Formats: sequence, C-alpha cells, structure tokens
Amino acid sequence: MKRILFLLLAISLLFGCNPEKTKEQRQYVVMLSMDGFRWDYTEKVPTPNFDKLAAMGVKAKSLKPCFPTKTFPNHYSIATGLYPDHHGIVLNSFFDPESNRNFSIMDRETVQDGSFYDGEPIWVTAEKQGIKSGSYFWVGSEAEIDGFRPTYWKTYTKDFPYKQQIDSVISWLQKPEDYRPQLILWYFDEPDQTGHIAGPDSQELESKIIELDFLLGYFINEIEKLPFREQINVIVTSDHGMSATSEERKIVLYDFIPNEWVIEVQGYNPNFNMKAKEGYIDSIYFALKDVEGITIWKTGELPERLQYGHHIRTLDLVVVADSSWSVELSHEKNVGNGAHGYDNNNRDMQTIFYAYGLAFKENYISETFNNVDIYPLICEIIKLKPAPVDGKIANVRNLLKE
Ligand code: AMP
Ligand code: ZN
Ligand code: ZN
Repeated sequence: MKRILFLLLAISLLFGCNPEKTKEQRQYVVMLSMDGFRWDYTEKVPTPNFDKLAAMGVKAKSLKPCFPTKTFPNHYSIATGLYPDHHGIVLNSFFDPESNRNFSIMDRETVQDGSFYDGEPIWVTAEKQGIKSGSYFWVGSEAEIDGFRPTYWKTYTKDFPYKQQIDSVISWLQKPEDYRPQLILWYFDEPDQTGHIAGPDSQELESKIIELDFLLGYFINEIEKLPFREQINVIVTSDHGMSATSEERKIVLYDFIPNEWVIEVQGYNPNFNMKAKEGYIDSIYFALKDVEGITIWKTGELPERLQYGHHIRTLDLVVVADSSWSVELSHEKNVGNGAHGYDNNNRDMQTIFYAYGLAFKENYISETFNNVDIYPLICEIIKLKPAPVDGKIANVRNLLKE
C-alpha cells in the first residue's frame, strides 16, 4: 500500500499535479493605462522608468488603437479584444436606437448599466473561469456584464490621487493568495487632460510625462518588494494619442447644412455620428462631402480597415475631422489645443505598449500591433480560454518567451 502511495505521489510530482507547485507557477498580469499617452511622448523628456521597463521587457514601436480613437471605445476594445462595431461602445456618447436611450461617459447611470456593453471583457472571462480580478477605474468595470463584475472594483472618481491608487493596487497584491486578484486593470486619466488643455507640444505636457514616469518608478519599486514579484507581469499601455489643434482649422457643421436635416447628433470634436431626417441622408452627405478639413461617410460605406459603421448605434452618417482639424456644432465652442478621435492610421493617434515579467522577452522592441490583440495576449499568459474576438494571439506571440 505504502509503495502504491509513494508511486502516486511521484507521478503527481512528475506531471505537475502538486497544488503547491501549481500555485508557485501562477502568473499575474497587472495592466495600467495612462489615458492619451502618445507613442512618442517618452522621446520628449528623460523617462528613466519607461526606459527601465523597455530594458527589462518589451516595448512596441507603437500600439494602434481602434477607430474612433476615443477613450471609451478603446479601453473597452483593449478589455474585450473586439472592435467598437462588435462591442457596441461606438463613441464616448451615443444613441441606441434599439432601446431608444442615450449613453454618455458623463452620465454615471449609463456608465454603470451593463446592458450597453456587449462582448466579454477580460475580467468577466477570468471570473467565469474562477480567476479573481480587480479593476481600478477601467472602462466598463463598474457595470455588471453577463452577470459578472471584477472581484474588486471601484467607482470612477475624476482626478483621484495616483499615489493612493498605486498603494491600493499594491495592497490587492498583498492579499493572501486565495484572495489575491490574478488580473488587475487600472487607469490614470493623464496625460490626456493636459494634452487637451495645453496641447501635445506644450511644456505642461512635458512636466506631466516626467510626473507619470516618476509614479511609474514608484509603482515598479513597490512591485519589486513583493515576495512573488517574479510571477508578476506588468503592462503599461494607453487608449490613443493626441494631435495639436487650433481655432484656425475649425469646421462648424451647421455652416454647411441646416440643423433641421439632422434629428440626432452624437459625439464631440473630432467625431460625430448623425441620424438624418427621413429622406435627408444624401442631402447631408453631398453637402459635407467636399468640405475641406472633414471626411463624411454613410454608415456601411467606411473603408474596411476602419472596422466601423455597421453597428446600429453609428446611426446614418459618420463625420470625422481630418488630421489636426476640428469639427464643432457651433462657433462658440473652443477647440482647445489638442484632440483625438481621428483615423487610427494617423501616427499622432498611436500610443504606447510596454510589458515586462515572467512571460515576456527582455530588451525586445516589437513592431506596431493592434490594441485588440492585448486580450488574447493576456489570456495566453494567465491561461484563460478566450472568448471569440477580433484580436489575434498570432500577432503578439513574438512578445512572449519561447
Ligand atoms: P476623452 O478624452 O474625451 O475621450 O475622455 C477622457 C475622459 O474620460 C477622462 O478625462 C475621464 O474623466 C473620462 N473617463 C475615463 N474613465 C471613465 C470612467 N470609467 N467613467 C467615467 N468617465 C471616465
Ligand atoms: Zn482617452
Ligand atoms: Zn481625451
């Protein structure tokens, strides 16, 4: 009998069935998004901590967001691996003709209403498979989606102190193993705000990047103090970049069309989705089609590469300003010094991707890839069975160790 038990123990050790061993090898992913961090901001000022991250792991030449290059569509694309047409968060604010309701990032009730969010965010994939997750302000994580929420989550608070946020994320990682989230997504609302107000080429922006680099250094230092630090993979990324804007390059839509032709208009500079008064789609389209500084499409006719304009929430017409131009609904609206939302091929809209940890190669520069590829990448690292998505692991497998 003793010999049989010994044999069984030996077999289980050989095939890795020992629960202690499995726990030891568990990998963690902690992903931070710094809103509106353009791909080249780290070239503007010294950023020793970003450089350290690149040396310890992987840096992409840039990360390509989805169109429209706005905050909610892109954070939710990173979370779900789906294009906005497939996850339904088609702009920061939109009208849903099916439920006859508006969604807006300014309206807490809709932000927290899971019925607006399609697709399966990665924390739901994780929780469904028995993996604990945490989200500190990631878009969509305040809503119950498909009956699930992250185990740990917070209600979004604008301008929340970043250091306090870092300390909370670290405290989640200090929980006893059975309570510790294996996947954490968290979010800073800068340098987006500074980019809008002062512009991407301003000194204020440079100071903000220095501050964020310092905070990143503090965070990495805290991670390095954790006893299981070798099992943690850190990703630092963002939703989109920023383009300089000016009052001199501003188009006001109602200079070209009477406003009674439009019965619903959603969005803000540089993106608008419009529903036309019955029989007026062509009138609007032809009135705006040759206006310098903007591009207009009828939904269903956008170029394939934009992967946009098939969802019912994109309404009848999609308008976007051309690079560095602005489009507004009134002359009174000031365009500020920076905007995003433009074509995702526009270099200014591209953003950052850094990662290091057990799963990632070291000192490796990767080519640009799509943000929808992050979902399958994380699934691969923490061994989740992915939901069907637009992103492809084949595009990012080269980031991982053999
Ligand atoms: P925008 O630059 O207009 O695409 O949006 C950026 C803004 O989105 C940030 O300044 C935040 O205030 C806001 N935001 C980000 N995450 C959330 C959230 N989870 N809930 C509500 N607003 C958010
Ligand atoms: Zn953003
Ligand atoms: Zn922004």
